[in-house]
Amino acid sequence: MNLELCLPLHRKSAWHEANWSIAHLLKRYPSETARLKTTALEISGLFEGIFPILDQLCRRTCRFCPDPCCLKATIWYDVKDMLFMHLSGTKIPDAQILSGPGDVCRYVGPKGCLLERCARPFVCTAYLCPPQLSLLRKHPIEDKKVAESIRLIKSGRTLIENAFAAITGGGGNDNVCQSWDAKGKQAHRARGMTRADL
Ligand code: SF4
Ligand code: SF4
Repeated sequence: MNLELCLPLHRKSAWHEANWSIAHLLKRYPSETARLKTTALEISGLFEGIFPILDQLCRRTCRFCPDPCCLKATIWYDVKDMLFMHLSGTKIPDAQILSGPGDVCRYVGPKGCLLERCARPFVCTAYLCPPQLSLLRKHPIEDKKVAESIRLIKSGRTLIENAFAAITGGGGNDNVCQSWDAKGKQAHRARGMTRADL
């Protein structure tokens, strides 16, 4: 399999075109977009509720990690991530996560991720490595809150994606979105990605 062809929107021109298409389509359907914005803001609220817990987990694990997951993850912004960022008013990052097959995430900085948490692919928030999970399990209230929030966020993201497809009729520019998710899934399988497929 040619991974060059499978990684979605890794070329900057394709990334900018897809963002332009989403923004354009959302503007074209203002009343439906207003409803979806409400869902996106609910998702933002759920994120804000668990970020302090996740930050605390990272402080206790990532700083001492011998094998940081960000240096080896094959991940990308998918349609749901893009729609969420557009609808929640999150600043759109300059480029897709990977610039090409085999590359390291372009947003890894010397002290961790350079992106605001809301601007990261959802998989980066939802993924908890085994040391983090075992720490979290020792705090049942936080554990439950994270699990429940992730569940609700996932269902909100799916609702937004389905509603967007229904509103726009799945034609024209929307094919860009469908095709990049399909390609992403192929790349995922080809690289044996370890993070959950969200
Ligand atoms: S999330 Fe886990 S695997 Fe990834 S850098 Fe932090 S401690 Fe390491
Ligand atoms: S976007 Fe941030 S959290 Fe996600 S892989 Fe890149 S550096 Fe890590």
